[in-house]
Amino acid sequence: MGKDKPQKHIINKTDWRLTGQEKYLQNAILTWQKYKMPRPRWDHDHCEFCGIKFIEQLDNEILNEGYSTKDKHHWICKNYFLDFQEMFHMCGVQIII
Ligand SMILES: [Zn+2]
Repeated sequence: MGKDKPQKHIINKTDWRLTGQEKYLQNAILTWQKYKMPRPRWDHDHCEFCGIKFIEQLDNEILNEGYSTKDKHHWICKNYFLDFQEMFHMCGVQIII
């Protein structure tokens, strides 16, 4: 029962993963999308919370899709989005192509 549901972590305001993300994530609308290089020679970004890498080509322990802000400056992996969406009142949007 509930086996496939991602585990929810208990978060409080002093969580060590919180380093001021509320400045750009408060009430943010994030879009689930494939990672695309923002410009030549800038080939990756990191999750704002856990630091996991996002790149275009899928590799072990690296993601090629996640939640990103409209300007694509900030990326969040799925698990951490689920952990923090309530605290930051973030909205996750899935775009179906
Ligand atoms: Zn993450």
